[in-house]
Amino acid sequence: MKQEKAVVVFSGGQDSTTCLFWAKERFAEVEAVTFNYGQRHALEIECAKEIAEELGVKHHILDMSLLNQLAPNALTRDDIKVEEGDEGELPSTFVPGRNLLFLSFAGVLASQVGAKHIVTGVCETDFSGYPDCRDIFIKSLNVTLNLSMDDSFVIHTPLMWLNKAETWELADQLQAFEFVREKTLTCYNGVIADGCGECPACKLRKRGLDEYLSVKKED
Ligand SMILES: [Zn+2]
Repeated sequence: MKQEKAVVVFSGGQDSTTCLFWAKERFAEVEAVTFNYGQRHALEIECAKEIAEELGVKHHILDMSLLNQLAPNALTRDDIKVEEGDEGELPSTFVPGRNLLFLSFAGVLASQVGAKHIVTGVCETDFSGYPDCRDIFIKSLNVTLNLSMDDSFVIHTPLMWLNKAETWELADQLQAFEFVREKTLTCYNGVIADGCGECPACKLRKRGLDEYLSVKKED
């Protein structure tokens, strides 16, 4: 796959930055696409921009502000608090069909830039109620994209079956552990690197990091 080109769906967070490193190791040419949908923090877009630039990756930022019109919720509106959903319930950050839309637009972009591969950091393991993060959805969409454009894209999901600790391990294997730890933004409160420590995203990230570091120590 070394001669081929890939488009990475990229938010500037831990998962998609790890995917960006993963793609850079596998493909001759990598481009990143970030969707701007009026995120709670404009810093998220800035952070993505800086990472792409530092890694020498061509970066596309697509305006998806229509998402805010369709699904106002905690990630896109300042007046709604981020809350963890009860068990089995969708969290308040849920935008229905978000990955369906993002991946479809990534497919159109891939077609425009001549890329056969689309990489996304979706993950079924820490499945928090997002049906369009499931492996079966990705496989289904892959078929749909190929039929819709009469093409043969391959959607790659390197994190699909990894837990958060294993995602840190993957970053480490890609020589990207420090980079991902220091430069990515996962926090809902817009604090880069280890974050605010209080929000659900920070707690999840820290739990995975602590678990990975403790396993690493034992080796
Ligand atoms: Zn936080």
